[in-house]
Amino acid sequence: MAVPFRRTSKTKKAKRRTHLKLEVPGMVKCPDCGEYKLSHRVCKECGSYKGENVSGS
Ligand SMILES: [Zn+2]
Repeated sequence: MAVPFRRTSKTKKAKRRTHLKLEVPGMVKCPDCGEYKLSHRVCKECGSYKGENVSGS
């Protein structure tokens, strides 16, 4: 088995882990109800998009 030649520095390790995030990107707060929703998507809580209700019917 291959063994690392050098120990990974704290900086190198931290920089690699900047991509490890807890939250899913693209989440924004709905201006209507304040719930978190995916940007450029209709809010699933109140069915609004750009201040208009587009939930159908
Ligand atoms: Zn909403």
